[in-house]
Amino acid sequence: MTNQKLISIQRINHDDVEQATFRALDAIHAESLMLREGMKVLLKPNLLMAKPPERAVTTHPAVVRAAIHWVKQFNPSKIYVSDSSGGEARVGLKATIHSLRVSGIQSVCDEEGVECLPLEKTKREIYPVPNPLILNEIVSAKLLKEVDLIINLPKIKTHALTFLTCCIKNMFGTILLSNKASTHALFPGINEFASALVDIYSVSAPQLTLIDGYLCQEGDGPSAGDVVKLDLILAGYDPVALDTLVCKIIGLDPDRVLYLAKAEAKGLGSMALNEFEIIGESIASVRCPFKIPGGKKWSIPFPFPKFLTNYAGRTVFRSVIHFDKSKCKLCGICWENCPVGAISQPKEMKPGKKVPIWNSSKCITCYCCAELCPCEAVDFKINIPRNILLSWFGGAILGIVAIIIVLLIYL
Ligand code: SF4
Ligand code: SF4
Repeated sequence: MTNQKLISIQRINHDDVEQATFRALDAIHAESLMLREGMKVLLKPNLLMAKPPERAVTTHPAVVRAAIHWVKQFNPSKIYVSDSSGGEARVGLKATIHSLRVSGIQSVCDEEGVECLPLEKTKREIYPVPNPLILNEIVSAKLLKEVDLIINLPKIKTHALTFLTCCIKNMFGTILLSNKASTHALFPGINEFASALVDIYSVSAPQLTLIDGYLCQEGDGPSAGDVVKLDLILAGYDPVALDTLVCKIIGLDPDRVLYLAKAEAKGLGSMALNEFEIIGESIASVRCPFKIPGGKKWSIPFPFPKFLTNYAGRTVFRSVIHFDKSKCKLCGICWENCPVGAISQPKEMKPGKKVPIWNSSKCITCYCCAELCPCEAVDFKINIPRNILLSWFGGAILGIVAIIIVLLIYL
């Protein structure tokens, strides 16, 4: 049994990340989670986007390597390093692969013989959210429930919308690729978005957290901020307590991080640090006030009509499937495997001339078809002008324009 009330704060001396990591995990007796040999362990870093380690956007590869070394001591059968990046228009479905390479994490995995697996490359699952605050279900990787242990590897960064990104916010990465953009659009208000983050965290709920406080970001995080060499590794079990503790270290009022109180109310942890035993450094000894962003940069400060946020999330920022005629062999794999029957075969089976038929209203953007297509004929793009034009809103605008033109001609 683990003592959930233990938290460890360790200094990284002379850039020896591995030593600090082992000290942090040993101090909280994390070995008690490694119940037997042959376990499957998933390490979940922050892979927001393709940035090199020195920019402090993604979890530092030295932290990932140290975590791998720690897990290897217990003879696991498999270690996965997995996440899903935000969908970058330029690289589309290859966004996570690109981030893994640029962040230095792919090289670490190759050297360590560990599988580096984008979550969108695994089988999908529709997960019901336990005690939902705002999201009833999420689509993510089946792998989340197939492994024996998930270790969260967040990085400490300030965030222009949520003020902090660390333990709870890191699991937003389990939402696949550009589905993150549509989640933001569905919940533009900070209050609703915070609820969505808590719901998303509660689906995977990692059993252990190892925080990368080596190179961090302050100011305009999570990607455009300034780098701070904080030289810390933190470990613990309670994500709410750990995020609260990080707030205290970087001089941020935890009450401003709305998802913390919501996560506590949902039973994911406690903000009462006096209930916890802090081992290693004290908060006072490592305190380092960060530049805190203004906040609510992308948030709408008043309640937005639900039909408009639904329109933005479900229509405007929606990924649209594209079948490449020149590549598609009409093999049928996509329509046979779509979990919700959103693809059907064309009336005429003429490869090179016809492509499968996509039903956008049924599609849950799980990206399975793109992954399974043997010909790389499926691609997804967020095409905002097209989405608007083909929606009821675009139709209404076109109708009004048509009426105006007709009136101008005949009057
Ligand atoms: S799986 Fe690929 S090649 Fe096969 S029918 Fe679908 S799009 Fe075409
Ligand atoms: S069409 Fe593709 S992305 Fe949409 S639900 Fe089916 S398999 Fe998933």
